[in-house]
Amino acid sequence: MVSIPCIGLVCDEDFYRGRVRLRRAYLAAVEQAGGLPVLLPATTDTELAGAYLDKIEALVLTGGGDLDPAFFGEEPLPGLGEVVPLRDAFEIALVKLAWRQGKPILAICRGLQVLNVAAGGDLYQDLERQYAGALQHVQKGPRSYPTHEVKILPGSLLFRLTGKDNLRVNSLHHQAVRRVGVGLKVAAYASDGVIEALEGEGNFILAVQWHPEDLLAFREHRILFEALVKAAGR
Ligand code: MN
Repeated sequence: MVSIPCIGLVCDEDFYRGRVRLRRAYLAAVEQAGGLPVLLPATTDTELAGAYLDKIEALVLTGGGDLDPAFFGEEPLPGLGEVVPLRDAFEIALVKLAWRQGKPILAICRGLQVLNVAAGGDLYQDLERQYAGALQHVQKGPRSYPTHEVKILPGSLLFRLTGKDNLRVNSLHHQAVRRVGVGLKVAAYASDGVIEALEGEGNFILAVQWHPEDLLAFREHRILFEALVKAAGR
């Protein structure tokens, strides 16, 4: 029997009701790509982060709320949204460890921001207030509808996977990468210059600011999960 790679997914927190949650689109994306989705609820015990990693072959950092700017040395600005510090601390510890262990990582939306902050980079807390000339990055259309374009840098992993130098993506973020973290490089920009994808040096580390799990109807978005599962099986 062929073994199915276990793909760990971090969860969102409904802090006020004391619930863990994750949209099913992430599970469908992993399953369709041939992986077994395994949920990783946040824990305050960083040793458990290591124990989680022993059980999985690859990691998906999922979307969610804002990062606490304390993690990149800033005070909160008026445009900052809801933060869940438990989730931030857990995910930063988890992704640092996964990176060190060479586990493949796919980071989505908030996940891209977590990855960047874990690598010592920082964020715009709110594009509308801090980035002149920004496009509408919190789209009003359905999640499954791509609303803006991104330019993919030739030579990037994203370019090799999709075979395209531009893509249409959905957009559901009001924060974005400002300074890129150590060991990461930009793989795609929106037409306003906002960073839309990052990649790591060395092992498979791909981070996108959009939500490919809601765009599974498109080959060039499905392929990101397929590439992760393939890297997990190696
Ligand atoms: Mn965007």
